[in-house]
Amino acid sequence: MTPTPRLEIRLDHIEHNTATLTRRLARHGISVTAVTKATLGDPDVARAMLRGGATRLGDSRIENVERLRAAGLEVSMTLIRSPSPSHAARVVAGADVSLNSELDVVEALAAAAIAQGTVHGVILMVELGDLREGILAADLPDAVRRTIGLRGVELIGIGTNLACQSGVGPDDDNMAVLSDLVAATEAQCGFGLVRVSAGNSANLDWALDDPPAGRINELRLGESILLGREPLRRTPIAGLHTDAFSLVGEVIESKIKPTRPWGTIHQAAFGTTEPRPDTGPTRRVLVALGRQDVDPDGLTAPHGMTILGASSDHLVLDAGDRPCRVGAELTFGVDYAALLRAMTSPFVARRLRGGPAGSDPHR
Ligand SMILES: *Cc1c(COP(=O)(O)O)cnc(C)c1O
Repeated sequence: MTPTPRLEIRLDHIEHNTATLTRRLARHGISVTAVTKATLGDPDVARAMLRGGATRLGDSRIENVERLRAAGLEVSMTLIRSPSPSHAARVVAGADVSLNSELDVVEALAAAAIAQGTVHGVILMVELGDLREGILAADLPDAVRRTIGLRGVELIGIGTNLACQSGVGPDDDNMAVLSDLVAATEAQCGFGLVRVSAGNSANLDWALDDPPAGRINELRLGESILLGREPLRRTPIAGLHTDAFSLVGEVIESKIKPTRPWGTIHQAAFGTTEPRPDTGPTRRVLVALGRQDVDPDGLTAPHGMTILGASSDHLVLDAGDRPCRVGAELTFGVDYAALLRAMTSPFVARRLRGGPAGSDPHR
């Protein structure tokens, strides 16, 4: 018996998406750090990304980096969230490089690296207007001076992140600022920066456009590889699969019921629901899927069906004129929020498909 609920993961689609994006970006001199965080650092997903041509892996959580290492992945690994100081030793042991915006953290990494007899790579993140992580441009020279003065760490690049907190998109102006900061930093240090890590999937439109990419030579891509969409407008990217992930749930009730509730109406379990116009009795279907498994707002219903609502454990659908027996499996599309929640839920199983011959489909 295949368990439900479960995420079905098409490894061949992830490989294809990575290959398509790495090929297109290579023409602009940009390499891909494939970001595994939405899959909790799944080693099979990571291997599919590497087969597709990603040169490095990135993840936001040290636990996921450790999981990838434990699975035998020896590729260059970047921690893409600023390390927690208390994790410094684990970060130095697991990741080759981390993205940093606080010198206190860089100092903790340097001390841990010296203790472990190694050198940890540092990319300094610059704030370019989205107001999440990053050193203000005016403060960069001081951060650079202090970083290159430390043993145990090596300044290998600078980077930025946009479109995550405030929705500020990458454009020719802020990307030119980043290139100028690279030149200024190199003049200050007297050596070249190896990695200029300009952002996430939201940078794709900018990067694939014609003007030269300046000094930018790296993007950190998660959503575009996994879901085939760019995150600024969530439009599908031409030539990519948007269905590498789908969520399968099982029908636990299927009955013809009236469209409208009856009785005195108060708040429902998760806020208020607008009553629907009365269209007469329809087939209402309950699926054993809820907010503990997935973000229901990020689900796409099977063709001909409509999602009416969700509570902790029940997803309610109007099945239209589709017959739907108890025990039937229904397959839903997922967006990034739904994928993240489903991957993180202990109730959702995973089934890998389209992997190399001989790989184990369950985990
Ligand atoms: C999550 C994240 C990424 C990847 O973002 P996608 O939109 O999934 O491509 C890149 N960089 C940082 C710092 C992130 O937190």
